[in-house]
Amino acid sequence: MKCRICRETAVIALPRHNSAFCKEHFLDFFKRQVQRAIREFRMFSRKDRILVCVSGGKDSLTLWHILHELNYDTTGLYIDLGIGEYSKRSRRLCEDMAKSLGRELKVVEFSKAVAPIKDLARAAKRTDCSTCGVVKRYYFNKVALEEGYNVVATGHNLDDEAARLLGNLLRWQLEFVQKQYPVLEEEKGLKRKVKPLCRLTEQEIAAYAFLNRITYLRDECPMSHDSTSLLYKEALNRIELQSPGTKHFFYLQFLYRKRKGNLKGLSENAAVEPDGAETGDSKGGPFQCRVCGLPSSGQICSFCKITGYLDKSDQTPYEHA
Ligand code: SF4
Ligand SMILES: [Zn+2]
Ligand SMILES: [Zn+2]
Repeated sequence: MKCRICRETAVIALPRHNSAFCKEHFLDFFKRQVQRAIREFRMFSRKDRILVCVSGGKDSLTLWHILHELNYDTTGLYIDLGIGEYSKRSRRLCEDMAKSLGRELKVVEFSKAVAPIKDLARAAKRTDCSTCGVVKRYYFNKVALEEGYNVVATGHNLDDEAARLLGNLLRWQLEFVQKQYPVLEEEKGLKRKVKPLCRLTEQEIAAYAFLNRITYLRDECPMSHDSTSLLYKEALNRIELQSPGTKHFFYLQFLYRKRKGNLKGLSENAAVEPDGAETGDSKGGPFQCRVCGLPSSGQICSFCKITGYLDKSDQTPYEHA
């Protein structure tokens, strides 16, 4: 297998591009894909202060690494969800990355200040992952607002986004399809959210991490059993195996058509859950939460509703590392 550019021995084959690359040209390809996403979707510039949400997994640590390589002004944000050994190890890896990049890592001590995520989910009678999603989105925005970051960046990749699109289509959640995009503009007190790895697959991100010696947590979160997105990813991977390029086409054509305005009207008459809670993309409403004062689509935001099931309440539990 030869590199498509220099004809040296390739280290990775990319069937979806019908090509293979040596180390140097794969890293070039990877950088170009990130820069293209940043430029194409007008995510941010070098003047922006970017809060990178890190979990200790390959996607978020790779995102932090590459944005730093590309000379963006980044700070990491880690939320300690209290998932036993998994959280301890993931936190350590985020701290190690902060040290190696020479950048600051902010840590939200959520499980100490409020409750471990599993207890909160049980109290609120929600699934672990939907509870976790509400908590993470809440702090991403809160920390960015309070500490003056312009942009919140997450490590969602092409596989994540394709799985989400498939899930939304399978359930005909057209309002969510309409909202799905790699950039959510700042509005109503919610900071701009971006996904700079949206053009790259999990396999490509794992290769970048390996070639850059990034140590990340390989284990799945022990609570990931309720994550339906794993099922959709598996289905898409099976299709991809038979027909390379399908996943890429499915998601990137969706973005292309959306940009061209070809999907307008898709969501007419579609129902949406208040607060957009299941999509991760709540844009809030005209309200300020009566409990915490942050933007909300109702009188009380989703975070305060679910933490209201516990005795303790949120006390801005974050610190700098
Ligand atoms: S798998 Fe679910 S509980 Fe675990 S980190 Fe992801 S969203 Fe949270
Ligand atoms: Zn090459
Ligand atoms: Zn609130």
